[in-house]
Amino acid sequence: MKKIYGEKLQVIISLLEKADRPTADYLVAHKTPIFTGGIGASKSAIWTLWGSIILNKDQYPNEETSLDAWWISVICHEVCHLRQGPLTAFSVYGELEAWQVGFGIYQSLTKSQPSPLISRLLQLPLGYDLSILREARALMRQHAGPKYRIDLYPLLPLHIWAKHIF
Ligand SMILES: [Zn+2]
Repeated sequence: MKKIYGEKLQVIISLLEKADRPTADYLVAHKTPIFTGGIGASKSAIWTLWGSIILNKDQYPNEETSLDAWWISVICHEVCHLRQGPLTAFSVYGELEAWQVGFGIYQSLTKSQPSPLISRLLQLPLGYDLSILREARALMRQHAGPKYRIDLYPLLPLHIWAKHIF
């Protein structure tokens, strides 16, 4: 694993400042470590329980200045999970929020028209309604394919489930 620091990190921060201020502010305030590393072929980035982000070294560009709208949205998605905390991040609810953040930023940067599936996902109200979270899960699997094991995630964050049950 290689930590991104100094000028390279500064390029990322200034790209994020233009794309999504809250994400940039979070990274600066928390001094979030960003690494490049081997995380398997199926993912572009992951968040860790230690409050860091690992970007897929096999997909990451040589120069930070080549980071495109897709990479910026990927980083914002993972920072959203760090802001949520692990309990929320590990749920369909948490993924729905992160997908909405990531795709929302991607659309605003590229001014492109999202696919019907992604527009539907962006329109889903973020809340604890189980039928909406089930629909979100189905849309995510349709978009990402069966290797994306969102089916293993609880619909609600575990601490919210606990409140529903007791
Ligand atoms: Zn995610």
